[in-house]
Amino acid sequence: RAFHPEDTVVEVRGAKVGGGNFLYIAGPCSIESEAQICEVAKLVKKSGAGMLRGGAFKPRTSPYAFQGLHEKGLEFLLEARNATGLPVVTEIMDLSQLPLFDDVDVIQVGARNMQNFEMLRALGKIRKPILLKRGLSSTIDELLMSAEYILSGGNEQVILCERGIRTFSQETRNTLDLSAVPVLKKATHLPVIVDPSHATGKSELVLPMALAAAAAGADGLMIEVHNDPNHALCDGRQSLKPEDFDNLVKAVEHIRPYAFHAKLA
Ligand code: PEP
Ligand code: MN
Repeated sequence: RAFHPEDTVVEVRGAKVGGGNFLYIAGPCSIESEAQICEVAKLVKKSGAGMLRGGAFKPRTSPYAFQGLHEKGLEFLLEARNATGLPVVTEIMDLSQLPLFDDVDVIQVGARNMQNFEMLRALGKIRKPILLKRGLSSTIDELLMSAEYILSGGNEQVILCERGIRTFSQETRNTLDLSAVPVLKKATHLPVIVDPSHATGKSELVLPMALAAAAAGADGLMIEVHNDPNHALCDGRQSLKPEDFDNLVKAVEHIRPYAFHAKLA
């Protein structure tokens, strides 16, 4: 902020985040079929999502778990964009995949790659927004320095995402570090969004944490939504049904006028 006091607004295909623009990014953890991603895309758009998420390359703990549909998944994701007009964000797992991401609107760097410095440098050389998620055990300074790798290459379109960190707490998948929101907003001009889905791992905790994130001054939310969470190939336990996402947007919109703005404090 010292060098760049004004909020950065990241804009892609009409979707804006930062500088007072609140963005809902919604969609399944993984792209499972063309029908699935298109169905979810239509429903979340109707509820107010401005961007569609969906993983094609999935960083799974077990090598035997569903790894994503890879190129086919990206194809289906772009079909869903064509069908709805929603810009899309999807995760890159390795720099060798970069050519496949030419048509993707926003490239996600997942928590596990937050300190893949070679990848960050390469993403600093392209001119496409990057959604950078906080590492599982990374400090706020480390997150900011990772963003700096991208910015220093000349790519100024970076969105930061708080998605929970590792603590001794067992009740939730991760511990949502909500204080990261005002801390980051004060330190940086970059948009800051919150992912309460991966932060909690439980669908019933997504709404309260989404409300809290909005109140804390987040610029947007990333929410996992599945048309059939019980049969999802990945992260069904934390995925909202489309109707629950619809209720979430309505509830968050009630909170937003009262949000704390760290910059003004
Ligand atoms: C995701 O958003 O699909 C994901 C894998 O999240 P994270 O990198 O935060 O674990
Ligand atoms: Mn997921």
